[in-house]
Amino acid sequence: MKITLQDAADKLKAANKIVVTAHVNPDGDAIGSTIALYQILKALGKDVTIYIDDKLPKNFVTMPGAEDIKRPVEGEKISADLLVILDTAPDRVGKVIEVCDAPILNIDHHVTNNNAENFLYVDATASATCEIIFYFSKILGVELTLNMAVCLYIGMATDTGFFNYSNTKPATFKAAAELVELGVMPNLVSENLERRTAHEIKILSLALQTTKLYFGGKVAGMFVDEKLSAQSDNTEGLIDLIRVIEGVEVAFLLKFKAKKICRVSMRSKTVDVSKIAQRLGGGGHVRAAGCTIEENFDDAKKILIDAIGNYMVEVNKISQADFNSDIELALEDVEN
Ligand code: AMP
Ligand code: MN
Ligand code: MN
Repeated sequence: MKITLQDAADKLKAANKIVVTAHVNPDGDAIGSTIALYQILKALGKDVTIYIDDKLPKNFVTMPGAEDIKRPVEGEKISADLLVILDTAPDRVGKVIEVCDAPILNIDHHVTNNNAENFLYVDATASATCEIIFYFSKILGVELTLNMAVCLYIGMATDTGFFNYSNTKPATFKAAAELVELGVMPNLVSENLERRTAHEIKILSLALQTTKLYFGGKVAGMFVDEKLSAQSDNTEGLIDLIRVIEGVEVAFLLKFKAKKICRVSMRSKTVDVSKIAQRLGGGGHVRAAGCTIEENFDDAKKILIDAIGNYMVEVNKISQADFNSDIELALEDVEN
């Protein structure tokens, strides 16, 4: 059932014991929004716990409050009045849903979130769940601390590609401006998030060399296979390096996670990649979406390129002839 932010505030105020969670493969928005809401609820005197069923990416481990995030243990049971799920529908929270069977309040900004069976507040115009939580704090009547502000800023900065993507709206800048007034230092945030070891840059250069172009250069893909992903699992920002190639409408990154588990990230300039991700069992936004393909790496690659190509034929971005040509062009074969 869709509810308003005021309804969501009423439900939180009526609850005492609250669990807050977000999606697996957590990003800055998932982590930032859970920590910020956790601290807001603590300020309201609630008994709150954060569970995320995954490892935190290295650059987020030092976020203020990250040390309070717990991982659910198989068979564990947590009783609560309310389970708050942020930045995803309930299908991507891993074991948290089995461990905590409280009524669900879902707050999200994904256009693909159709979670009708729970209380759902979804605002697909918000740049990030952190942007929603920023405005929500005003409804809840909690003044943001610097730590909360840093978390909310990180979520907005990461989901907007540092205020570059099309989801960056006046409301995003207004929220960011207030967060900076509270003491957030954008330069320190970007230094922390963009920091890479020399080894990671080496892996990044290897990943870049895997780039291939498809369908007359309208699609670009990067491949982090088992060997490459064993050397570094930090693929944050990689896809942005190929998203900018002139003529490319859809960029994707295919990454080996485990045997028969491949993660897909997609970014686009014009095509609705959330539609492609949904067909493959995932979701996301019009310009940024993802999914997991449970196949070996080579099969996943074929399934993904076919799904992208088919969709692009349907929306007249490429011709059937382009699709049939089946040409894979490596970067070293691109002419000047
Ligand atoms: P990523 O490429 O991992 O940064 O994801 C891009 C966007 O798609 C993010 O907003 C994700 O939350 C969303 N997304 C990624 N994977 C999935 C999935 N399997 N199901 C639903 N949404 C997803
Ligand atoms: Mn997210
Ligand atoms: Mn998000």
